[in-house]
Amino acid sequence: MVKVVRVHAYGGPEALSYDDVELGQPGPGQALISQTAVGLNYIDTYHRTGLYKLPSLPHPIGVEGAGIVEAVGPGVTNVKPGDRICYGSILGAYAQKRIVPADRLLALPEGISDEVAAGIMLKGMTARYLVRVTYPIKKGDTVLIHAAAGGVGLIACQWAKHLGATVIGTVGSEEKAALARAHGCDHPINYNRENFVEKVKEITGGKGLPVVYDSVGKDTWEGSLDCLAPRGLMVSFGNASGPVPPVSILVLSQKGSLFLTRPILAHYIVTRAEYEETANDLFNVVKSGAVKIEVNQRYALKDVGQAHIDLENRKTTGSTILIP
Ligand code: NDP
Repeated sequence: MVKVVRVHAYGGPEALSYDDVELGQPGPGQALISQTAVGLNYIDTYHRTGLYKLPSLPHPIGVEGAGIVEAVGPGVTNVKPGDRICYGSILGAYAQKRIVPADRLLALPEGISDEVAAGIMLKGMTARYLVRVTYPIKKGDTVLIHAAAGGVGLIACQWAKHLGATVIGTVGSEEKAALARAHGCDHPINYNRENFVEKVKEITGGKGLPVVYDSVGKDTWEGSLDCLAPRGLMVSFGNASGPVPPVSILVLSQKGSLFLTRPILAHYIVTRAEYEETANDLFNVVKSGAVKIEVNQRYALKDVGQAHIDLENRKTTGSTILIP
């Protein structure tokens, strides 16, 4: 029996049930891993509430972690028992041990701790595809990253800065502004106090931006479009304040022949080659020190309900780790 956090019925933090589950043995192509650290992500709250539907109920949630391979099933050659591994984007991470498709495991490089790995695999691979693929940032670009002091935000700010951008970031408090500033954000804007559209216009001399990375959703949608230069790209990649309501595509012409994408990580790491390229790029910027990782909160896995409460109440910054 192992401890696994499952959702039996969609709901609030009380829907997270700390269950005993029989695991069994890994089948063909699978590996049994023992987890040392599990990452907390905003997407976990969508899986808990049902905004993003789970494949069945009850179902374990969580999508990133690190640990050690305990056993492998027939046909597995990329990992062996004893290997340090990590992964992102495999549903069911809130567990002491779990069985996963072995071809979605990555070797955890020397110099990166289990906690850091568990705190970056989803968030850091997301930051990577956003700044390198969805809109490849060029030296001299000015970009806007919402929730700049959050998990994805702190990584994305540093990475964008590393690529040569001037980074504007929104944050919900003065403490978060200081944190973002210390992590690559040239112009933190407290959007609870200031109008971020006006500030962006001021910073860009009225020109607007080539891209906005928006994970806040409903509350920032309209303002984000207003920050873009003609033919700019709106990257709407999250719903922390709630999903963006249905929109008329005419708004894109009215606001400057804008481009719009609603990307998810899974579609950027479809093949093993894409997955490895994305992860290796992430490991390299972390190991070089270009992107520093802040694990600012730790909770026992059994206390994950409190972790969800804090995340949804905007009390966390950077990465958060659950210890199984
Ligand atoms: P964060 O650590 O960024 O936490 C969310 C942050 O959003 C909060 O700290 C808060 O920062 C801000 N926020 C703004 N409005 C609200 C609100 N009404 N309620 C709660 N928070 C609010 O989380 P993650 O780093 O885990 O994820 C960031 C976003 O990226 C999420 O929306 C997530 O869904 C998305 N995401 C998308 C992926 C994709 O591929 N599409 C993959 C991974 C994440 P502040 O107080 O500063 O406003």
